Amino acid sequence: MEIQDLYIEINREIQQNKDGLIRLGRELFSCPEPGFKEVESNQILTSFLRGHGISCRSDLCLTGILATIGSGDGYHIALVADMDALVVNDGEKSYPCHSCGHSIQTAVMAGVLKMLKDLNIAEETGGRISFIAAPAEEFIEFDYRQKLKEEGKINYFSGKQNMIEQGVFDDVDCVLTMHVNGETETLFDVNSTLAGFMVKKAVFTGQASHSGAAAHMGRNALHGASLCMDAVAYMKDQFPADAGLQIHPVITECGGSVNIIPEKAVLETYVRANTLADLLEAGEKFDLCAVHSAAALGLSCRIENRTGYMPLKQSKELNEIIYRHMREICPEEKIIKNVVSGASGDIGDLGYLLPAVQFGFSGIRGRIHSSEFAIVDEENAYLHTAEIVMKTVCDILINPQLQVKNEDFKERKEFYLKNWLYKEI
Ligand SMILES: [Zn+2]
Ligand SMILES: [Zn+2]
Repeated sequence: MEIQDLYIEINREIQQNKDGLIRLGRELFSCPEPGFKEVESNQILTSFLRGHGISCRSDLCLTGILATIGSGDGYHIALVADMDALVVNDGEKSYPCHSCGHSIQTAVMAGVLKMLKDLNIAEETGGRISFIAAPAEEFIEFDYRQKLKEEGKINYFSGKQNMIEQGVFDDVDCVLTMHVNGETETLFDVNSTLAGFMVKKAVFTGQASHSGAAAHMGRNALHGASLCMDAVAYMKDQFPADAGLQIHPVITECGGSVNIIPEKAVLETYVRANTLADLLEAGEKFDLCAVHSAAALGLSCRIENRTGYMPLKQSKELNEIIYRHMREICPEEKIIKNVVSGASGDIGDLGYLLPAVQFGFSGIRGRIHSSEFAIVDEENAYLHTAEIVMKTVCDILINPQLQVKNEDFKERKEFYLKNWLYKEI
């Protein structure tokens, strides 16, 4: 079949399935569940898939889903979607809400898999297409996740990180994802970057003492934390502005009475940067600032690390295809390009390992992550996005020259497991 005929088929397929797709989207939107609690969302999605004759695994990292079509061993495209919601507060009460629009991702990607199965494109090309619904993208509810970790149910706080460690992406060649943006004047964004971050906790320990009678006998832990804050502020100057370095420490613990030299002080911060190299360097320099500030004052310092998310750098080749299909939907001025965002996502980790794209789409009212979040342009959120993903998948499976791969996946994964995920507390 000529590619243009296939595009016509795709548009026809979307028209035929649009009511079901939007219904699925609404159903998932009204079922907001925070990370690793996406039980009902899991049921909605798996019964949708199984109802359309697609078998799936439904217990990855507690609530994640993997469904693959295509029995060949050719190029393997993963359609990745986040499943989780946030907990928002409207000024009176807190409640779960899909205020990051993840329900749109799961609905569209599951719907796309169903429609691509109808078109039989995987079987015809010998390729494979997987829908991977990942739990827990939002980095929240630490106590709950820590409990899951202690019970041995997860190893990391993010769904994708657990999935990567478990090998879910080991035979995947590229990753396609999308995420809602808060824009109102444009329809899409393409080739945006996301910052990476890591979480640091520096615990300073000194010696308590009477602050009047024997202050000189004490070793003030708060002084260590204070000196560290200064050192970190000076250290930040060693990075250029475009490194996007953000370190804003807070003192989260420094108990005791006013007549006692503080024995313990805890300083916590996120370290953020736009590239992995800068992020790793800044993390090491932060540790040096903390350890040497402590040493200078006769204190000890223990640093606890929690894995954050890697910066996202998208595949240029894949984004060229995505952009071409965006342009079939709207003029150039309706597409934002190359935004450097200070936000983060665990798609950054996947983008480090595999060629990946996460394009943005508009269609909401109210700020992202707020209780006012509402989906107002269902055509753009559900149908245009499905069209872009379907056409991109078909292009890639039909044209071998578009089948980009990270040949060094194995080495990258080794580095990732050893030098990134190991940094857990
Ligand atoms: Zn979010
Ligand atoms: Zn999100």
